[in-house]
Amino acid sequence: MTRTEDGPRIAILGGGIGGLAAAAFLREQGFGSDVYEQAAALTEVGAGLVIAPNAARLLRRLGVLDRFVGRAVRMETGWEFRRWENGAVLSAENLAEACVRLYGEHTYAAHRADLLDALRSAVPAHSVHLGRRCVAVDFEGDQAVLRFEDGETVRPDILIGADGVHSRVRGAVVGPTHARESGICAFRALVPADKAPDFAKRRAQTLWIGPEHHLVHYPVSGEEYVNLVAFAPAGANSVESWTATATVEALLDEFAGWDPRLVELITAADTPGRWALLDREPLGHWNRGNATLLGDAAHPMFPFFAQGAAQAIEDGAVLALCLAAHPDNPIAALGRYEDLRRPRTARLQEMSHGRSRINHLPDGPEQQARDLEYSQADPLRANGWIYEYDPEVAVSASA
Ligand SMILES: Cc1cc2nc3c(=O)[nH]c(=O)nc-3n(C[C@H](O)[C@H](O)[C@H](O)COP(=O)(O)OP(=O)(O)OC[C@H]3O[C@@H](n4cnc5c(N)ncnc54)[C@H](O)[C@@H]3O)c2cc1C
Repeated sequence: MTRTEDGPRIAILGGGIGGLAAAAFLREQGFGSDVYEQAAALTEVGAGLVIAPNAARLLRRLGVLDRFVGRAVRMETGWEFRRWENGAVLSAENLAEACVRLYGEHTYAAHRADLLDALRSAVPAHSVHLGRRCVAVDFEGDQAVLRFEDGETVRPDILIGADGVHSRVRGAVVGPTHARESGICAFRALVPADKAPDFAKRRAQTLWIGPEHHLVHYPVSGEEYVNLVAFAPAGANSVESWTATATVEALLDEFAGWDPRLVELITAADTPGRWALLDREPLGHWNRGNATLLGDAAHPMFPFFAQGAAQAIEDGAVLALCLAAHPDNPIAALGRYEDLRRPRTARLQEMSHGRSRINHLPDGPEQQARDLEYSQADPLRANGWIYEYDPEVAVSASA
C-alpha cells in the first residue's frame, strides 16, 4: 500500500466520483492513498449530472476545473420549471447573472465520464487499482480488514468506504440497513444534439412537472448531447443499478399526452437506463474503528436536488482537512469528519425526499398552490446554505 513518509496507509474502496475526489483531496493535503475499484476501467455509464457552485469551487481548488469545463456546459438558466401539458414556465433562475456573484462559480452540466476524468487527473495513476473487487469487509477489534476476490487481504490504517449505494463497508460499519421501495424509478438517456429539438439545446436545467412524473433535461458533453432524466412510477421495477436498461417505448408510454416538444425529445433518445429509487433513512453514525463512509455509501439521496455527487466531493475535501488537522490521531479526525458531515448530508437527504411528493402532485388545488409557490420562489438564494458551503471554513470553525 501507498504511504507518504510517516503518513497513514489509507485505503479507499470504490473509484467512483466520491472515491476519486477523496484521493485527490488527500493528495492535496500530502497524504497517499490506494483506491480499489472493482471495474476493469474507470468509466461512468451514459448519464449526466449537474455540478452546482459548491462542487465547482472544489474542482477549482483541486486544479481540475479547467479540464472539466473543456467538456462541461455552463448553465445560463437553472431549475426552469415547466408545466407538463403545455410547457408554461412556472419559474426559472438566471444563473448567468447571479451564480458567480452569489457563490463564486458557475453551475455546469456534464457527462459523468467528464467529471470522473477531471477527478482522476488529480490522482496519481499508480494509486488507482482497477479490477479489484472486495468480497468481504471485517473488523478485528478496531481494525478494518478488506478481502479481495483475488485472495489478497488489506489491513489499512484508515479505510474509507466510497463503494456506493450498495456499500459493503457500510454493512460492516453499521450492520444491515433497510431500504424501502419508493415506488419511483429514474430513466436516464442521452439524445444526440443533432436529433434534439432546439428548446432542449438551450443552456438550461429544464424541469417538467406533471402528475406522478417529472423530467429534467440539459445539454452535456460540449453540447453534443442532451441528457434527460425522467422520474415515473416504478411499477414492478426495483433494480437499483447503473446498468439496468429500459426502452424508449416504455419511456414514451410514461409521458404520453405531455407537451409534444418533450415527446419529440424522448423519441430521439438512445436506449435509456432505468434506476429504481430505493429509500433509505439517514444513518445515525457512519464510523467504526478505523473505518468511515463517504458519498452514497454514507448518505444515498434521491436525486431531486442534484447534490449527491457534490456531497461526495465535499466529503472528500472535509475528510482530508480533518486528517491534516489531526496528523497523530486519525480516529479523532474521522470523528470530526462524521460530526461535520452527517447533519448537512442528512438535511439534504430529507429535503430531496420531500421533493418526491411535491414534484408529482396530481392536477388540483395542491398543485396550483405549489405552482404559485414555485413562481414566487428564489431557489438560488433560498438554498444558499447548499451552494455557499466551504469545507475549509467548516473545518476551521469546528476547531
Ligand atoms: C438518476 C440520478 C441522477 C443524479 N443526478 C445527479 C446530479 O445531477 N448531481 C449530483 O451531484 N448528483 C446526482 N446524482 C447522484 C450521484 O450520481 C451520486 O451521488 C454519486 O454517483 C455518488 O458517488 P459515489 O462515488 O459515492 O458512488 P458511486 O458513483 O456509486 O461509486 C461507487 C464505486 O464503488 C465501486 N464499488 C462498489 N462496490 C465495490 C466493491 N465491493 N469492490 C470494489 N469496488 C466497488 C463501484 O464500482 C463504483 O465505481 C444522481 C443520481 C441518480 C441515480
